[in-house]
Amino acid sequence: MRVIFLGPPGVGKGTQADAIASRFAIAKISTGDLLRDGVANGTALGLKAKEYMDSGGLVPDEVVIGLIEEKLIAPESRTGFLLDGFPRTVAQANTLSEILEEKNQSLDKVVYFVLPREEIVRRLSGRRSCPKCRAVFHVESIPPKKEGICDNCATTLVQRSDDQPDTIQARLSVYEEQTAPLIEYYRDKNNLCELDGSGAVTDVQERLLAALSGS
Ligand code: AMP
Repeated sequence: MRVIFLGPPGVGKGTQADAIASRFAIAKISTGDLLRDGVANGTALGLKAKEYMDSGGLVPDEVVIGLIEEKLIAPESRTGFLLDGFPRTVAQANTLSEILEEKNQSLDKVVYFVLPREEIVRRLSGRRSCPKCRAVFHVESIPPKKEGICDNCATTLVQRSDDQPDTIQARLSVYEEQTAPLIEYYRDKNNLCELDGSGAVTDVQERLLAALSGS
């Protein structure tokens, strides 16, 4: 299975991605996680990406495309992949389609997560993430068992620097300008499927499984 999760930041793509990828035994490829790894490890790529990420802007296409190409040819992607946070521009989407064409592959589905803006802001401002295993929590709706501590690996949870109020607004504007055009792009290709992202994590997962199995 080859799937894209599309939608604004904070809509729940990352929260659903791990469970879906393991359920279908496909690779989860999150450009945001790959870039954050680069920043945390101080790699040349991380240093280049950091200023864009901190301001809420997009990292240049060529940087992100390089990352994705590497992951798509890796053995873990042989059974399929779930792209979380990529593509984010029409140029990225065109490159993805060229890469897949070369491999004689096609996309099965593009799941577009839909959620009202005020709920997106609420989710992003209360989001807490594990810097080690990348698990995601929310102070009110998905609280960890022990406050501020990751349920999976007991690491202290952090608030992402780009989840501050000003940066949230900047990221949402960037989404509207540069990423939202992909909704029509994939609708025209007939593989877009809209998903109601509201409610509890388990409810969204149920809807997602139904959408992915075609029912
Ligand atoms: P995310 O974790 O998906 O919200 O991504 C965090 C940040 O990483 C974004 O705000 C961008 O600065 C950068 N980023 C992630 N994916 C991409 C992408 N496909 N293209 C450009 N920048 C990206």
